[in-house]
Amino acid sequence: MLLHTANFSYFTFANLDRFSAVKHFVTCGNSAGTDINLRTMGGADNRKKLAQTIGFDINRLVTGEQTHSLNIAVVTDAEAGRGSVDIDSRIPCTDALITNRRGMCLMVLTADCVPVLLYDPATHSAAAIHAGWRGTANGIVGLTVRKMTDEFGAKPEHLMAAIGPCIGACCFEVGDDVAAHFSRWPNTILHRSEWPRPHIDLVLANRLQLEQAGIPAANIESSDECTKCGPHGLFSHRRDQTLGRIGTGIMLM
Ligand SMILES: [Zn+2]
Repeated sequence: MLLHTANFSYFTFANLDRFSAVKHFVTCGNSAGTDINLRTMGGADNRKKLAQTIGFDINRLVTGEQTHSLNIAVVTDAEAGRGSVDIDSRIPCTDALITNRRGMCLMVLTADCVPVLLYDPATHSAAAIHAGWRGTANGIVGLTVRKMTDEFGAKPEHLMAAIGPCIGACCFEVGDDVAAHFSRWPNTILHRSEWPRPHIDLVLANRLQLEQAGIPAANIESSDECTKCGPHGLFSHRRDQTLGRIGTGIMLM
């Protein structure tokens, strides 16, 4: 990830920066209050600041309710502005957004969960995905790749994928009940003598699923920053029980 400093800080991914036909961002909100917070309530002014800085129309920003579901919404012009600065109009019970419409900014909000962006330069279509541990264990990223194929004719081998900052394997300690959900990907369950309980590598679990869905490993970029212990002090629910949220978004030009 590359850090940009405007009137607030945000990251971009090198593999998506290569394409001038798409804009994207990961906001660098932090609990010190020195950067932007896109939390669901009270973040309207910050979202307007974000739209100005990145260069998209706030009236075409779209978010979902994010309930750890596997529901994927196909975003058309009719959804423009849903959940842009309020919570009531968010697309209900939706954790992934896909579109092939220009100018629609798809955004997910996270604070330890995994944000994932997909872009297909061939069909000019994109996705923003919220993958918590449940969504990850239930395979939401692979389902979203398939949905882009069904809806837009996207071929997985053309897709670029970006996995944003989330709670790292260093800090994501879980009980055996949660770890059992990851038994399909044994390398994602980590044990160390100094850890009383297992840790889960959510980045690896999503990366493996993206590769399994047919995306070349070389097309997948992931952030190494842990939201809980990383250098930028990003919003972390586990660390702070915060209402602060990182916004991760993508827009087709
Ligand atoms: Zn950590």
